[in-house]
Amino acid sequence: MTRRVALLGKPLRRRHSVVMHNAAFAAAGIDAEYILRELEPDEVEGAIAAARGRDWLGLGVTAPYKQVVAEFVDEVEPDAQAIGAVNNIVRRDDGRLVGFNSDAPGFQAAVEAVLDRSIEGLDVVVAGGGGAAHAVVFTCLRAGARTVTVGNRTVEHAEALATRIRGAGSGALEVVDLGGRGFADATERAGLAVNATTVGMLDPGMTIDVNLLRADAVVFDLVYVPPETPLVRAARARGLRAANGSEMLIQQGAIAFERWTGVAGMAGVMREAVAPLLADVTVQA
Ligand code: NAP
Repeated sequence: MTRRVALLGKPLRRRHSVVMHNAAFAAAGIDAEYILRELEPDEVEGAIAAARGRDWLGLGVTAPYKQVVAEFVDEVEPDAQAIGAVNNIVRRDDGRLVGFNSDAPGFQAAVEAVLDRSIEGLDVVVAGGGGAAHAVVFTCLRAGARTVTVGNRTVEHAEALATRIRGAGSGALEVVDLGGRGFADATERAGLAVNATTVGMLDPGMTIDVNLLRADAVVFDLVYVPPETPLVRAARARGLRAANGSEMLIQQGAIAFERWTGVAGMAGVMREAVAPLLADVTVQA
């Protein structure tokens, strides 16, 4: 029996996850396939119910369904509950479906590799208040960041984020306007500056003024299409260490793969398989 994992979302334009997971299934000798399922909102509940069957290992979940799927699974893990987003579901042997979040540990693994140290004790500035920003802020606070300043275009969205995430760690969490003085001040103090908006992907430009950053600050842009975002380019031009979101994509994929199959250590296989797609400047955002 060929077992399955399907990614639920709409639209589903990218094939990165298909390429990564199918390469890992092949390398691990597992008879399974990863497929895309573009669904209308009223089809999501049925697709999840069907994944209780023995031929399923689990599901991936992407926009716009990362919040709503929590209602349709049997259990949501505490971190995913705290973040407010489920981006993967694992089918346990008894058929129960458990929602979890791999963006948060994927971000931590990727960002600590660029930092070459842990997040603990850092002052962090984050642009964004959406789903990805929730995972980023949760991770930074949980990992012991000293301060996290969140700047968002719509300040109310960042305030809602703060209300949900504030208890994740003992560091100070502050919400500011993305274009305001408070964000500039936090940028000047930051050891780590993160873009968790779609700017650089859907909209041109960048959210963080790299000229304000300290010479030892690290820039992490969650965007990975295009391969070198304007923010990453500007940071590198200033001589700063900077990375796009490709390693986070790989790390979160490897974490999910291990949950579905019990097989760890597939990040290298995934990285090699997805490299051509990540480097392809013609891939659409
Ligand atoms: P989302 O929930 O739709 O949130 C979008 C965010 O971008 C919001 O904070 C929004 O601000 C902001 N934004 C959009 N247009 C803007 C503009 N013109 N100026 C300033 N801010 C703007 O999206 P998401 O799921 O958080 O994803 C955000 C990015 O992270 C995407 O590029 C996604 O591909 C990337 N991501 C990468 C990974 C990875 O593994 N590398 C994982 C997850 C997400 P408002 O609140 O004001 O609308």
